[in-house]
Amino acid sequence: MNKHVTDPVCNMKLEPERAFSKGSYDLEVQYFCSDLCQRTYEARLTWERDGTEEARRTYLDLLAQGHHSF
Ligand SMILES: [Zn+2]
Repeated sequence: MNKHVTDPVCNMKLEPERAFSKGSYDLEVQYFCSDLCQRTYEARLTWERDGTEEARRTYLDLLAQGHHSF
C-alpha cells in the first residue's frame, strides 16, 4: 500500500515518489504536484513572514494561475 501525501496548495493526493517536488519547511516535508504549486506555497510563506503588499500580490498572482503549469 502506498502512503499518500497531500499537496498543501491544491489539496491533490499524491504518491510521494510521483510528486513533482518536495521541500522542507519548518521541519515539515511538503510534496507538490507541480512547480507552480511549490512556488505558490513558498510565496505564501514569504507573505506570512514579511507581510508586505508586494509579497501578498506575488502570492495571489501565483494562486490565480491555478496549479497545473504543464
Ligand atoms: Zn498542486
